[in-house]
Amino acid sequence: MRRVTILGATGSIGQNTLDLIRRAPDAYHVVALTGGRNITQLAADAREMRADLAVTAHAELLDDLRAALSGSGIAAAAGEAALIEAAQRPADWIMSAIVGVAGLAPGMAALAQGSTLALANKESLVTAGPLLLATAARHGARILPVDSEHSAIFQALIGEDRSAVERVIITASGGAFRDRPLADLAHVSVREASTHPNWDMGQRITIDSASMFNKALEVIEAKEFFGLRPDQIEVLVHPQSTVHALVGFCDGALMAHVGPPDMRHAIGYALNWPDRSHLPVARLDLAAIGRLDFAAPDPARYPALALAGQVMQTGGHAGAVFNAAKERALDHFIAGRIGFSDMTALVARVLKGGVPDAGPDMGARDITLESVRHWDHFTRQQMDRLIAA
Ligand code: NAD
Ligand code: MG
Repeated sequence: MRRVTILGATGSIGQNTLDLIRRAPDAYHVVALTGGRNITQLAADAREMRADLAVTAHAELLDDLRAALSGSGIAAAAGEAALIEAAQRPADWIMSAIVGVAGLAPGMAALAQGSTLALANKESLVTAGPLLLATAARHGARILPVDSEHSAIFQALIGEDRSAVERVIITASGGAFRDRPLADLAHVSVREASTHPNWDMGQRITIDSASMFNKALEVIEAKEFFGLRPDQIEVLVHPQSTVHALVGFCDGALMAHVGPPDMRHAIGYALNWPDRSHLPVARLDLAAIGRLDFAAPDPARYPALALAGQVMQTGGHAGAVFNAAKERALDHFIAGRIGFSDMTALVARVLKGGVPDAGPDMGARDITLESVRHWDHFTRQQMDRLIAA
């Protein structure tokens, strides 16, 4: 039996992961499941999967979790330290599916036990890519990408000589506002921004898809994970979301990964790797789809994309600053305090002006968990100050 742990089990990726595990209950032993405020879901899943341990990120919900698990024999724990302990429990395969930079420390703890980390939490690579990869190498752990575009690139690279890769192309659906008049974008609602044309995902990544902050994060994620130069990474708008990514080789060939927009493919690929096993995703009928469209992203509609270039140029903690500024701007947008277009404008201002309280040089290279926390903390404060001003 393979021992598996799911960090962020109650979220969209976590639930899709459980869907796959549920189909082969005898193949897996669930070690730990973690979640946030949805105690009912967490406890129900822990009971169904007969997990050893369930952890909520919120210390004040420990009693609720204990009550929900009473009589089950499943251990309950709560808080940040408990999340780390869950990640440290011996397991063969650990899904990193917490949303935001909060997923970094648990993911690092999982790597330190030398097992396989299925990485959905792109923020880990954006904020601390070199640290994450060095930690994996030091402990003999393997990171398998779960972001659909990165899983697609990973699959297109199988058997290929990396030095023959010229470029990678990451596709983007264009999000909720692809066809909206530009002038409307300042006034769109949180509800509209939370609806994705093709993918069913958590609210935060769905809004990030509409703004293309998600794609900006993915460009940086690709640079870090595959060791690419920024000029080797392109973004292509592809409204059907069936081609997830393409890899371009030195002989002009493009290898495209084509599949339905269903995260269970990328999750299942990481779960079954290095094998391929049957997965319960739709089979594409290309004749019925008929056509696939591609277009260059409009920089006026998606200004977040250009910021990714700046971040990669600066390096060091620029990824942590970018991500924290984005996460905080998104909090304020969801709370109704700023408009949709304000998010990119504010993040651009933080990148340009720096984070004076955190230090003069966000490009400084020595990345540790503590240094990421430091830049993250002061960037959020800086964003709050800009919004209050
Ligand atoms: P989600 O919001 O649906 O779920 C997030 C999970 O993290 C939940 O279990 C929640 O309880 C937990 N969580 C939230 N805040 C936390 C905190 N501070 N500490 C600990 N746990 C916390 O998110 P999601 O859409 O499943 O995305 C998860 C990750 O996967 C993100 O990094 C996202 O970018 C990435 N991803 C998601 C998709 C998708 O289809 N949803 C696709 C590609 C990549
Ligand atoms: Mg993606």
